[in-house]
Amino acid sequence: MGIQANLDFVKEQLPKHVTLVAVSKTKPISDVEMAYQCGQRVFGENKVQELCEKHEVLPKDISWHMIGHLQKNKVKYIAPFVDLIHSLDQESLAVEINKRAKQNDRIINCLLQVHLAQESTKFGFTFDECTLFLNEKQTLYPHIRIIGLMAMATFSSDNQIVEEEFKKMSEYYQLQQNKFPNLEVLSMGMSGDYSLAIKHNSNMVRIGSTIFGQRNYNK
Ligand SMILES: *Cc1c(COP(=O)(O)O)cnc(C)c1O
Repeated sequence: MGIQANLDFVKEQLPKHVTLVAVSKTKPISDVEMAYQCGQRVFGENKVQELCEKHEVLPKDISWHMIGHLQKNKVKYIAPFVDLIHSLDQESLAVEINKRAKQNDRIINCLLQVHLAQESTKFGFTFDECTLFLNEKQTLYPHIRIIGLMAMATFSSDNQIVEEEFKKMSEYYQLQQNKFPNLEVLSMGMSGDYSLAIKHNSNMVRIGSTIFGQRNYNK
């Protein structure tokens, strides 16, 4: 199947209120162009250099999302144009994003990444840290707008583990959203688990391999 058919397949399964972030990491410019020609406008990347290279040559009405762990010393490269950072995962990164956003005369939309999975390799705030940030920290960073939360489930074929985590995340999200109505986005769900994520209130899914095919990291 080609990119167009894959995109159609995915979109058919997404309720209208769910935003599709097409994750184009490792994929060539031509793949992004193909998806763009099919009407896709929101793309996600997890490496700053790749994000910048693609942003530079592709149409300017693309909304670029940073979805991967972001190193502080690289924030400056994406600050001029990034539309949404999904991976605000520690306060020191907020300091840097705020600084670079200010230099660019921008307010950058961010999601707080919550550490949900069992893997210690994944990044993010604990629920408690996230609550603290929302209650006491976010007002310290006027050039950042926290518009929601992001989470990744444990990489597991056991749907029960994944569903438990999504459910926990959804409950936490709803609790915080009652307090902070600006939290409009719950970014949760990838190729393997987006249906489950949507069942548990996700309204933004990040889908790569189902659209663009398996990634080859050895090239
Ligand atoms: C790569 C990646 C995705 C997409 O993964 P697929 O399984 O290919 O859909 C989603 N979110 C993050 C943070 C990623 O790094």
